[in-house]
Amino acid sequence: MKYIFGPVNSRRFGISLGIDLSPESKSCNFDCLYCELKKAEPVPLIKREPEVEDIITEIKNYIEVNGYPDVITVTANGEPTLYSKLDSLIDELNRIKGNSKTLILSNGSTIKNSEIQKTLTKFDMVKISLDAVDQKTFRKINRALKEIQVKDIIQGLKEFRKKFRGELIIEVLLVRYVNDSLENITKTAEILKEIKPDRVDLGTVDRPPAYRVYPLTDKELIDISGYFSGLNVNVIIRGKDSIEEKISLSEEQIIKTVKRRPYTYQDIQNLFDLQTVQKVHKLIKQGVLKEIKTQKETFISA
Ligand code: SF4
Repeated sequence: MKYIFGPVNSRRFGISLGIDLSPESKSCNFDCLYCELKKAEPVPLIKREPEVEDIITEIKNYIEVNGYPDVITVTANGEPTLYSKLDSLIDELNRIKGNSKTLILSNGSTIKNSEIQKTLTKFDMVKISLDAVDQKTFRKINRALKEIQVKDIIQGLKEFRKKFRGELIIEVLLVRYVNDSLENITKTAEILKEIKPDRVDLGTVDRPPAYRVYPLTDKELIDISGYFSGLNVNVIIRGKDSIEEKISLSEEQIIKTVKRRPYTYQDIQNLFDLQTVQKVHKLIKQGVLKEIKTQKETFISA
């Protein structure tokens, strides 16, 4: 199999089968400081593009043996919207996908283009990155091709939201000393409220990145998520903070925190200290907090 990879079992999406549109080399018009791929000069296109037919044959073969995955994720060793046959690919995927949902992961660089917007509306879920909202910070963190302007990405996102009926997820990745200033955080939150995504994923550097950059702690991310109130924020918890950094909350703080965003038992174990975990269990017993069971997870909410 040349173009498909996985499947991976993701907590949010279930069994996800990936399609890599640029398996031979990184093809991205950004060169983000936090990229988990190798450093590379940004490029405007994917060299040696795959044929749609070859990708679809691989997907069909996978489905024949393994059944339908929960999600088919279109990605690239770089930026998937640089693929010139993306529109035909999504049409074909929609023809064969059965009950699977389609998802694309994009850096948003092309979202101002109305043809790209039209193509992306054919996906069930679209996840786009937005790490900064002013050109200076954008250049610092995403190191995009010079002609790419973050104001165009923002404008494109607003236009796209109006056209797109599926789930729009915006990912904000914060890097210590680069885009974690209060100014960038509050401005980004304001713009996101104007865009109105279905969900905001707030995260930080996780796996070893291309450049030497530093993550924020889970506690800092949780605190920062407070600036995004009114939005459906999902803090991507790494669970890698040291024991000393685990968070201690009062009962009142626990109720407020899970009211803002439901947490899984795993999140609670990773993030909070023992006393706080015990308080959570007590509040569940008392009926102050409740369990919400979905097909894949049990969440704690208020
Ligand atoms: S947009 Fe994605 S693939 Fe491109 S440089 Fe940034 S992190 Fe890497």
